[in-house]
Amino acid sequence: MCCTCVGAILFSSGAIQLPHHKLALPEKICPVCQRPFSWRKKWQRDWAMVKYCSERCRRQSKGLT
Ligand SMILES: [Zn+2]
Repeated sequence: MCCTCVGAILFSSGAIQLPHHKLALPEKICPVCQRPFSWRKKWQRDWAMVKYCSERCRRQSKGLT
């Protein structure tokens, strides 16, 4: 088995991260625009409460008719 094969297996199983992704930031999917967004420093205190990618989406979710 060559090292490329091993890497592919490990990668597909999620066992390793890409080398250039040193810091794995948590991600969430915005329920309004269905897009993934990553942790930002401004959310470091209330990341658990963050549900939307932006203020715009947050307002949209409340303003839906
Ligand atoms: Zn959004």
